[in-house]
Amino acid sequence: MTEKETAEKEMTEKETAAFEQSILERFLRYVRIDTQSDIHGTDKPTTPGQWELLHIIEEELKQIGINDLELTEHGYLIARLPSTLPEGKVAPVIGFMAHVDTAGDMSGKNVNPNVIDNYDGRDIPLGSTWVLSPSDNPEMLKYVGDTLITTDGSTLLGADDKAGAAQIMAAAEYFMQHPELEHGAVELIFTPDEETGTGMDLFPVEKLKSRCCYTMDGSERGHVEAECFNAAKVDITFTGVMYHLGSARGRLVNAVTMASSFIAMLPRTESPEATDGRYGYYCPLEISGTAESAKVTIYLRDFEFDQITRRRKALESMAEALEALYPGGQVTLSYKLQYLNMREHIAADPLVMQKLDEAAANLDIPLHHEIIRGGTDGARLCEKGIPAPNIFTGGHNYHSRYEWAALSVMTEAALMIRELILLWGKEQ
Ligand SMILES: [Zn+2]
Repeated sequence: MTEKETAEKEMTEKETAAFEQSILERFLRYVRIDTQSDIHGTDKPTTPGQWELLHIIEEELKQIGINDLELTEHGYLIARLPSTLPEGKVAPVIGFMAHVDTAGDMSGKNVNPNVIDNYDGRDIPLGSTWVLSPSDNPEMLKYVGDTLITTDGSTLLGADDKAGAAQIMAAAEYFMQHPELEHGAVELIFTPDEETGTGMDLFPVEKLKSRCCYTMDGSERGHVEAECFNAAKVDITFTGVMYHLGSARGRLVNAVTMASSFIAMLPRTESPEATDGRYGYYCPLEISGTAESAKVTIYLRDFEFDQITRRRKALESMAEALEALYPGGQVTLSYKLQYLNMREHIAADPLVMQKLDEAAANLDIPLHHEIIRGGTDGARLCEKGIPAPNIFTGGHNYHSRYEWAALSVMTEAALMIRELILLWGKEQ
């Protein structure tokens, strides 16, 4: 093995420590910025805090010497790590992507992360009210002796997905400091509003040169995902017939009652609370309205598209049945496809997962191929023709005050980025 190959294979202890420190510092800096997105927001990005973090990352990219970058008017930050291959040699361009927003389910304002060195395996108090306990989270016990990062109980942490952003940035900095390591061009992509499900709507895919793009937005050590739900949204409008309630007998058709009857028809066995693994569901997610007109939004999710179609047809039959039950009342459905399972797109380019397996094997990280009971921005990139599997980042209990992350796994995820960049660089 040449000296260069040895250098490629392993980082020195000092380098690894610096790498870890870079990830931790960036992570703590990013989580303090409130980037909660707004599902009802009409601007893109939906909230100003996301701009703040995007500008910080943009500045940091320039500081580490990356000047080939663009922050678009809708808050997509795309930067390019230049190829270090000798003249005349070209390797496939690959990308890494993370989202800068945090979920609407829990506040992301004034995040005050708690860094616990040398975790002792006991309960961790989150402020004065809440406790993060290994009795509810047995996976914490895998990280005794490690550095854990938790919340103070009043907010989420934002490891979803600022862990991913910190990892991509630390890896970019590392390669800028090591121009002797040969690799192709690498695209670094930071996106807004992932949590609203509309984050990729305006993504300028034509700007990307990547053959594939690894999304750094997973969770537990070694977990990777190349499959997600197919997803559709159905908005159902119930129109009643209104009369003065004093003289309503036999004439009033109440849209609120219609909407409730409709929801009661949904099979309880096909709900998110009753299913797991590969079973899909219906989920009524929003309800609003008056006796005159009411609206219900139902999410359909399944790994198989024909099951989405089956549920869509079932909703149409239920609507007809409801109109028969409430003469004079009307039910209209509006169906919107949200995203598709990534499976076929990723399988079409087998090298994408082969490199992932190889990178993990080189780092002695056992991979677990999981399925996502949800979607990612990666799913939307797949639809746009760029295979985009998802890689673990080391965070747990997303969208909650119990969110926590293990620093050693955050570092391993960044090492996966390093390894993938080196492996793809050999594909000339
Ligand atoms: Zn995420």
